[in-house]
Amino acid sequence: MDMFEKISEHEQVVFCNDEETGLKAVIAIHNTTLGPALGGCRMRPYQSVDEALEDVLRLSKGMTYKCAAADVDFGGGKAVIIGDPQKDKSPELFRAFGQFVESLNGRFYTGTDMGTTPDDFIYALKETNCIVGVDEVYGGSGDSSVPTAMGVIYGLRATNHMIWGSDDLHNRKYAIQGLGKVGIKVALSLIEEGAELFVTDINQAVIDELLTKAKELGTTVKVVAGDEIYGVDADIFVPCAIGGVINDQTLRELKVKAVVGSANNQLLTTEHGKKLHERGILYAPDYIVNAGGLIQVADELYEPNKERVLQKTRTIYHSLMKIYKDAEANGITTIEAGDTFCEERIQSRARRNSFFSHMKRPKWSVRT
Ligand code: NAD
Repeated sequence: MDMFEKISEHEQVVFCNDEETGLKAVIAIHNTTLGPALGGCRMRPYQSVDEALEDVLRLSKGMTYKCAAADVDFGGGKAVIIGDPQKDKSPELFRAFGQFVESLNGRFYTGTDMGTTPDDFIYALKETNCIVGVDEVYGGSGDSSVPTAMGVIYGLRATNHMIWGSDDLHNRKYAIQGLGKVGIKVALSLIEEGAELFVTDINQAVIDELLTKAKELGTTVKVVAGDEIYGVDADIFVPCAIGGVINDQTLRELKVKAVVGSANNQLLTTEHGKKLHERGILYAPDYIVNAGGLIQVADELYEPNKERVLQKTRTIYHSLMKIYKDAEANGITTIEAGDTFCEERIQSRARRNSFFSHMKRPKWSVRT
């Protein structure tokens, strides 16, 4: 296929090559209607340039929707580094990557994603200010799991309201898969609300940590082994571990009324979203519910303020309610309603941008 055909939906694609450090990276900018492109940098031993290109094009488009859904002043972008995160990393490689990001002159902001850590970007930060999500001591906003967990709680409140007519989280049973940084915070908030929990994790240490904390709070949780979590008699399934957990097998087992969690790409395919809908299980699109982390890194545009981040995270409740109601009114899935919600936001901003096009656009800068 012609290269321009492949990138026809994107504004700009940059191939970065640095012989000295072995850096081979691709940066894709999908859409900057809402602001400069924002998206993490993934490092993987891609088998071919085509495979890396396909990944970066798909992920950067997804970021345009995520940014629109979270109502942050950024567009969609992403970067991929072709290499093995275990063997091919070096400070010089990330400095070279930082120089390429800097060459885009503020059109692209990036940070950690699969295969990269916030520490890698400390080296990139020496070359460019367009880096987000590093530790607080380096001027970043640090661990994003607090707003992400809070977003899940707001998503659960909206879902409770939609199904049972009340935001209250108690008197319901939740099945939480994954008690990592996000999952354990969600679990503890739900315990404090008086909810009943089924939990699972492949790491016994985090289960023990939750059991100890639950005991301190004067309650207990039911621990189930691995895949048993799908079939428990709960009201809402809360996936906070891995992707692809809504598939043919689990659809047969789920007894819940809704799926609301932080895990990325919960649906194995969009078809499985339709099947959830057909079974009358309400699905909260993952990119709406887990936007707390994105809201936090996007907020680095201004002086750090955790309170403001948590305040913005509350909008997840209203966005999700609108999507649920639009889906119900039009007889469509929540994924279709979510996509329309994002596209309308981008289109309305595009009109505003052209209205103000004679004025100077703001100068975007995280740390000046
Ligand atoms: P984490 O790595 O801290 O926790 C994941 C937990 O899931 C771990 O305790 C792990 O042992 C467990 N796990 C892995 N496979 C499992 C399985 N098959 N069954 C049960 N448990 C399993 O990650 P996190 O930061 O808590 O994020 C959780 C999910 O939310 C991930 O999918 C992540 O991509 C997504 N997410 C996180 C954030 C954030 O701010 N941290 C933001 C957006 C999305």
